[in-house]
Amino acid sequence: MTTVFIISAPSGSGKSTLVNGARARVKGLQFSISYTTRPPRGSEVNGREYFFVTREEFEDMVRRDEFLEHADVFGNYYGTARRFLRTAQHAGEDLLLDIDVQGAAQIKSKIPEAVSIFILPPDRKTLESRLRDRGQDAEEVIERRLATATREIENYGKYDYILVNDRLDESIEALRSILVSERLRRPGAQRSADDSDTLARAERFRLDNVRERVQPILASFVTAAAPGGR
Ligand code: ADP
Ligand code: 5GP
Repeated sequence: MTTVFIISAPSGSGKSTLVNGARARVKGLQFSISYTTRPPRGSEVNGREYFFVTREEFEDMVRRDEFLEHADVFGNYYGTARRFLRTAQHAGEDLLLDIDVQGAAQIKSKIPEAVSIFILPPDRKTLESRLRDRGQDAEEVIERRLATATREIENYGKYDYILVNDRLDESIEALRSILVSERLRRPGAQRSADDSDTLARAERFRLDNVRERVQPILASFVTAAAPGGR
């Protein structure tokens, strides 16, 4: 059986860092490499972070119905090829998708049992300093990412789990717990005593259990976005 995990986050929240950390700790997890029309950044390699294609190539794939979902993000196309799901199903492994909120909604409508996780930064200031410290983007790109983050964060209520990425080691452990707990919930899954801890830890990140924790984070973005804010 294959569980599809969707992970979304505003850029700079630490999604790549957390996903890499969790992949190193959870076996049997495949990762979908998306197709995109945006040019490669920095050290990105075709076929590793993304498959980099032209708009014509992407549109041909859309016509051939090769995508499970696709969306326009920041003016570029991004899409998840159906073949990654088929490969994971054949191997009996789970599939992790790093996609935006539009893609997440498309997957949820096609695969309602998919499990979605939204990663939030502790507050706007921290997101801003992580984007700056990463040293990857020009100033105007950072400003645009922060403005987009405000809109993306408003969608948090559509996700099953919310993870606030404060301390890195704790966040990686939280993500691991969520991934493993969903497997433990499958019919017929064997459980040990350690697994009860994992299940309990994962519960703490369910949407209904984090609403209060999320309010000040949302407020830090909304205040900054208001005229005269920041
Ligand atoms: P994303 O994939 O969401 O755009 P990254 O994984 O590239 O974000 O993380 C953005 C920056 O923040 C990176 O420089 C990363 O090392 C740093 N970072 C990620 N998580 C944490 C954390 N919990 N505490 C401090 N820095 C972090
Ligand atoms: P970046 O260009 O910074 O790598 O990614 C920009 C955004 O596109 C991120 O929110 C990322 O999750 C999203 N993204 C990456 N691949 C896909 C995909 O295949 N489908 C969708 N819908 N979004 C994607």
